[in-house]
Amino acid sequence: MKRESVCVAGAGIVGICSAIKLQDRGFSVTLVDRQEPGSATSYGNAGVLANGSIAPEAAPEIWRRLFELLGNRSVDVHLHYRHLPHMLPYIARFLANTTQSRYSKNTESLNAILNRAVAAHRDLIRQCDADHLLKERGWLKIYRSESAYRNSDELTSLYEHHGIAYRRLSATELHELEPDLYPIYNGAIWVTGTASISDPAALSKSYADYFVGRGGIIETKTIHAITPSGDRWRVLSYQGHSEYDRVVIAMGAWSASILKPLGYRLPLIGERGYHRHYQPDNNASLNRPIHDVEGGFVIAPMKAGHRLTTGDEWAALDSPPTPVQLHKVEPLARHGFPLGSHCSDVWLGHRPATPDSIPVIGEVPGHRGLWLVTGHGHIGLTLGPISGQLLAAEMSGELSDIDMRPYSPARF
Ligand SMILES: Cc1cc2nc3c(=O)[nH]c(=O)nc-3n(C[C@H](O)[C@H](O)[C@H](O)COP(=O)(O)OP(=O)(O)OC[C@H]3O[C@@H](n4cnc5c(N)ncnc54)[C@H](O)[C@@H]3O)c2cc1C
Repeated sequence: MKRESVCVAGAGIVGICSAIKLQDRGFSVTLVDRQEPGSATSYGNAGVLANGSIAPEAAPEIWRRLFELLGNRSVDVHLHYRHLPHMLPYIARFLANTTQSRYSKNTESLNAILNRAVAAHRDLIRQCDADHLLKERGWLKIYRSESAYRNSDELTSLYEHHGIAYRRLSATELHELEPDLYPIYNGAIWVTGTASISDPAALSKSYADYFVGRGGIIETKTIHAITPSGDRWRVLSYQGHSEYDRVVIAMGAWSASILKPLGYRLPLIGERGYHRHYQPDNNASLNRPIHDVEGGFVIAPMKAGHRLTTGDEWAALDSPPTPVQLHKVEPLARHGFPLGSHCSDVWLGHRPATPDSIPVIGEVPGHRGLWLVTGHGHIGLTLGPISGQLLAAEMSGELSDIDMRPYSPARF
């Protein structure tokens, strides 16, 4: 019997994992990207498999912080004012998700997939012989002020409610775990079930090699349109056109623009984020990633050095980099850790974000055979394998034990 052909457009971590999971279900899969697999946003993240990141960005507390955020006074968000008018429809949807009831519902939906995410990576990592990239030491949310540490009760209640394993650490216990942090921190939350990846680019490469090793095809092409062709789909690129039975759009932050000519508007933005690598002084090191909650940064020990990553920049997708946040957080990071000198250039990535902070997994309404797997925001590395698995199951007509409605593009 002829196998159904699928083109997965976009070979970030989400596209690669989706391609593997579709292969598992017998589809004949071609993965298309304009660059090396895993070399866009999936290259430069903090490498955290963040099972505990169940709190949506659209949270009721945003209202308390609104003036700070709009005034660009926070370290974790930076806004390009000239882009604001274009973002207003998205911001309106985002704010509509900050009611307590929507926040709780969205938290449930995130937890339903996050609680399977680390196990899904573990399985795939084992299949690909990439165990050396996986570190199982949890990660730390660290607090400078006593008041912020006390206010973290809200977070730990959420963890308890959703069964996320954690331990509270005093300043002394934190020092025992991470002796090279300066003693400026009042306490920490150790999310023990979180894992991390020491080289996200190498992980994407291992997964992509595994896909090819099982007969998958990877093509380097810049896609400029996806159009219906009878009951099939045509993928048009500057390097030629091909037809497939189905197409999956996994183009991360670039997924919305390819859909526009089809008359479908996906509310998706690229929340930009920066990183830089450092070689710490006197061979200092961290044993696991840390998130300095008040400092608004993450430092992750990686093969390439200690990677300092920033929060969100709300700006036009393709406007030139403005690493304001990196410049703001670097001195804060130096205050907490002997960061040393930088050993890489500044890198810019684009988190594909939705207004409810929930990924989009499912068939595009009104376009039979055209599927979406995108919108993974801050947790796309974490969710790659589980999202791919859910997508492939749905495309095969399997009933999932997870209610897929909250992830469907039909919700917009
Ligand atoms: C600073 C930072 C830190 C982060 N830290 C973490 C973390 O610790 N843990 C976590 O889980 N997540 C983290 N994330 C988020 C995570 O990196 C993203 O959610 C994830 O990489 C998105 O993967 P993706 O495959 O959807 O997109 P991408 O990796 O961006 O892949 C999309 C692909 O589509 C391709 N493409 C686009 N347009 C076209 C076209 N026209 N033709 C052909 N190909 C095209 C691109 O080349 C690209 O390869 C972080 C993100 C940032 C920016």
